[in-house]
Amino acid sequence: MIEITNLHKSYGKLEVLKGIDQHIAKGEVVSIIGPSGSGKSTFLRCINLLEQPTEGEIRIAGESITAPGACVDKLRQKVGMVFQHFNLFPHKTVLANLTLAPVKLGLMSLAEAEAKALGLLAKVGLADKEDAYPSSLSGGQKQRVAIARALTMSPELMLFDEPTSALDPEMVGDVLDVMQSLARDGMTMVIVTHEMGFAREVSDRVIFMDEGVIQEAGTPEQIFNAPQNPRTQGFLAKVL
Ligand code: ADP
Ligand code: MG
Repeated sequence: MIEITNLHKSYGKLEVLKGIDQHIAKGEVVSIIGPSGSGKSTFLRCINLLEQPTEGEIRIAGESITAPGACVDKLRQKVGMVFQHFNLFPHKTVLANLTLAPVKLGLMSLAEAEAKALGLLAKVGLADKEDAYPSSLSGGQKQRVAIARALTMSPELMLFDEPTSALDPEMVGDVLDVMQSLARDGMTMVIVTHEMGFAREVSDRVIFMDEGVIQEAGTPEQIFNAPQNPRTQGFLAKVL
């Protein structure tokens, strides 16, 4: 599903990603852990071209997204992204937040988009919130709307950047439950998270990033129970 070769990203003189090679299979759930500033968000943002890589190649579902002339709109339809701070449109209802993109891009009629949106809202446990505005929702509800919104485009891949980091603790579980059910349905997911329990339980593979490189990757068992890299060991000793 994702083939990343020699990915580099610099901001001016600051080299943030220093050569990342990674393959992620269809249906795989991969968690990325690592200290703040290690390049986790930049890595995710390169996968949907919110950042332009400085060097290297990224292929998604067989198509190069880094080749000259690659179509960003088509890519964004294949890749859903969920951010720490929800990024909902504040002046639109929940339903309008979900229907905006597919209708604007001409992929669905409004009626089709609304039917799909209502199904997705039910799926994330917010069937009664279609007419609500984001400001009236809790953080956990907002994040579930953001997940439903990303799903309206029927993405092949979902990227999550610390989706629960801005939530009050009592809201975290509902959002993780929605993500877990997506994972069970076979969605390919890449999740930057500080929720180590969730990463251990839901991931097929865990990647530990530090200083712009993948220091270690393996099954949750390998990474959490028997990390080999001293940096992984040091990080886990602090967060577990
Ligand atoms: P993480 O998500 O692991 O905390 P980031 O990918 O956000 O790390 O950031 C990695 C490094 O890149 C940090 O030093 C950060 O300050 C820097 N950085 C991130 N985005 C930008 C940007 N748009 N311009 C300049 N520097 C940036
Ligand atoms: Mg980040």
